[in-house]
Amino acid sequence: MPLRVRGRTLPDEAAIELWIIDGRISTERVAGADTVFDGGWIMPGLVDAHCHVGLGQHGAITLDEATAQAETERDVGALLLRDCGSPTDTRSLDDHHDLPRIIRAGRHLARPKRYIPGFAVELDDEWQLPAAVAEQALRGDGWVKLVGDWIDRSVGDLAPLWSDDVLKAAIDAAHAHGARVTAHVFGEDALPGLINAGIDCIEHGTGLTDDSIALMLEHRTALVPTLINVENFPGIADSAVRYPTYAAHMRDLYTRTYPRIAAAREAGIPLYAGSDAGSTIEHGRIADEVEALKKIGMSPTDALGAACWDARRWLGRPGLDPGASADLLCYADDPRRGPGVLSEPELIILRGKMFRAKC
Ligand SMILES: [Zn+2]
Repeated sequence: MPLRVRGRTLPDEAAIELWIIDGRISTERVAGADTVFDGGWIMPGLVDAHCHVGLGQHGAITLDEATAQAETERDVGALLLRDCGSPTDTRSLDDHHDLPRIIRAGRHLARPKRYIPGFAVELDDEWQLPAAVAEQALRGDGWVKLVGDWIDRSVGDLAPLWSDDVLKAAIDAAHAHGARVTAHVFGEDALPGLINAGIDCIEHGTGLTDDSIALMLEHRTALVPTLINVENFPGIADSAVRYPTYAAHMRDLYTRTYPRIAAAREAGIPLYAGSDAGSTIEHGRIADEVEALKKIGMSPTDALGAACWDARRWLGRPGLDPGASADLLCYADDPRRGPGVLSEPELIILRGKMFRAKC
């Protein structure tokens, strides 16, 4: 039976009335529709722009576990996920129409001993990167994920994984295959090489300086800061007792995170919400990241947009457009009020099918 929902939408707070037929949105009246929501707020499904479906504490997991991760995201309204690297091949999940849509980045690309064990494809020779990027571009859904920096135990501190020439060749290779590239970066030193090479996005970005912010602006690089995951930095430092320089660096990055990310936003860097769920962070926490974005000075509307309409536009996915898949959320209360409201929609509709989070 066709469905009908009516309320106000965001960010413009305009009245909206939608019909849902054959899984798609219609703005034209459909006879015999069942009104399933009337009053309150209606918006496109939330976006988690950095999470991992198919990644556990030690790397790959079973498809049943990956399915459960995706279900957890759906049940808090995260209906579009940008998977920022997964060692498990989760492409078969696309056949499960009750699961969120996933935009994959293939597998993380790193060097030996230069990322969390079990997570990445580890390249012995850095010049293998362009070919590896091309391979992951073919496996993914338009993104490739690099590890930009990590502790180098021979140095005892964070250090870049790749030289600038390699990055330029690799990012060119991704773009030639129609894929955008992003990178995990905690520290300062890896940023200029990545940004100058034309990378499309930086994940975490805790080591941003005024110079690298200016470079990102010049190159129109986006930022996904994953603020709730940065809360793990003091714990990472505590466990790195053999590497005091690294531990001090991580603590210093942590204390500067909010002012640096705020400076990036003020400078005009496009910024999107990602929870980094999948290893340390539990799935289903995108609302907490939206709340954290308010602490860098984003308005409640802009913080929500970074996890919804703005992130969808950036990822090339529709919102509440006629003909689009009916992936939407309905709230009795204003979802900008906080995580308690945002993560508990009255009604979740995915591909036209209703999932009720609340009774
Ligand atoms: Zn991540």
